[in-house]
Amino acid sequence: MGILEVKGVGKRFGGLQALGDVNLSVNERSVHAIIGPNGAGKSTLLNCLVGKLIPDTGSVMFDGQSVLGRKPHEINQMGISRVFQTPEIFGDLSVQENVMIPCFAKRDGAFELNAFSPALGQKDILAQAEEILEDVNMADKRHMHAASLSRGDKRRLEMAMCLVQQPKLLLLDEPTAGMARADTNNTIDLLKEIHEKRDITMAIIEHDMHVVFSLAQRITVLAQGTPLVEDTPENIKGHPKVREAYLGE
Ligand code: ADP
Ligand code: MG
Repeated sequence: MGILEVKGVGKRFGGLQALGDVNLSVNERSVHAIIGPNGAGKSTLLNCLVGKLIPDTGSVMFDGQSVLGRKPHEINQMGISRVFQTPEIFGDLSVQENVMIPCFAKRDGAFELNAFSPALGQKDILAQAEEILEDVNMADKRHMHAASLSRGDKRRLEMAMCLVQQPKLLLLDEPTAGMARADTNNTIDLLKEIHEKRDITMAIIEHDMHVVFSLAQRITVLAQGTPLVEDTPENIKGHPKVREAYLGE
């Protein structure tokens, strides 16, 4: 049993069957990539995992509990955290303040100061923020304005804001989209570091095969809303169905 078990998930938008019959099993502490051509249904699938969309059919189990019917903030509190394509940080606040903010549970967009993230318990929030900043190599930038950070550091900060919530599963939707090769390689290194330092499972939607093959232990290939194949990177590389979906062979 994986930490995330997706069974028979289907999602239709009007006449379009965006997801057909998706089965996916993500092993605890692994890095699992979901790849596929544009329009394959990758983002739709991710949205079904975080409660932004409700599937028409199937089940999504996380850590032994169903996520279906739960609101996004409830799913977040279960231990699923999502990294957005463009960093969502508070530019006017310091790096350290940004990392402390998620320690207060978010409810329907409003912060409730008495509703601490249950994962944090009584642990001192400042100490927690510092620990995470060390992990993403940003401790020396703790008092900088977030707006003045480089793009790569903004991405690091956003990652820190996810990690401070102590998620069990980190979901990333094309974390290197639009990046130059140097930034892409930095992001790969950062994700590797985080995966090694933190007890965390990662599911990455990614277009860039270099990123996928650098990070993933398992790969699911999605095409037209249905998984074509799920296998190791070595086996995926030469798979005829994958070559067909990607290269039109
Ligand atoms: P991917 O992320 O793999 O590129 P998406 O999940 O974004 O693919 O989209 C899958 C298909 O569903 C596409 O054909 C897309 O146009 C369609 N789609 C996605 N979201 C919606 C929506 N909210 N309403 C209607 N169609 C949508
Ligand atoms: Mg997408």
